[in-house]
Amino acid sequence: MDQSDISDAIVLFQFSQTARVGGRASDVLRRLWNLFKSNEIGFRIQAKKSTRGSFTAGQAGPDLEVNPQYIDALPAKERLAALSLVIVHEGVHAAVQFADLYSEIAARMLPIQYYRELSGPGVFNEADDPPRPGKQYGIIRIMPGRFPEFRAQSDALGKDQLIDYILSNSTYTTPQYITAQWIIDNLQSWRGLKNRWPSTKGLYIRILAKKFDPYYSGSSGNRVGDLEDHSGGSMHVRTLRRRYSSSRRP
Ligand SMILES: [Zn+2]
Repeated sequence: MDQSDISDAIVLFQFSQTARVGGRASDVLRRLWNLFKSNEIGFRIQAKKSTRGSFTAGQAGPDLEVNPQYIDALPAKERLAALSLVIVHEGVHAAVQFADLYSEIAARMLPIQYYRELSGPGVFNEADDPPRPGKQYGIIRIMPGRFPEFRAQSDALGKDQLIDYILSNSTYTTPQYITAQWIIDNLQSWRGLKNRWPSTKGLYIRILAKKFDPYYSGSSGNRVGDLEDHSGGSMHVRTLRRRYSSSRRP
């Protein structure tokens, strides 16, 4: 894997239907080429083995890093698609100015569309036409059953539950990503609380309880536990919101 693989991965995205839709995809593509031309995309082993890539503006070395351990561990014929998916994910982080959790949602949505295309019709590899030795050529396609985490995210997005998938990863449950205010702001989002996974409701309860209930112990006496209860849940949430907004007034 070297710089030519990175440009091949950007070209693959460029010629996908996903990128041709325009809007954010075009912004991401433009940003990726700018980063590439200024040597800001490279391979670097990440602190956590499970990290596939990262984007940190202005750091020493490339801003956009791809973990070579993730790519190298894959069968050769899956590497270009996988690399392209990682680069598009981090490219969204580079292109949008959103706060962390909104950035993560955006950074997953575009690769999910791209995954759907790669695992469906596939994308023709223009970068390696005519074929070059050691490079994949023709149509790049993800075989059924491969990249199950993308399948799961695609299914979750289809049910307006991508947020639940993201929040099931403890990386995204820290105050850097999710706060009481964020929860209050998004109670109605993605078809509302009734569409949240039980694990998401549990997380919401823990964060809101810490914020609003000084007696909350974390194990029992959970006074915002109504959130789990379909009948009383929505009323209780209104109460929470009222309490929260009044506590914010000067
Ligand atoms: Zn991300």
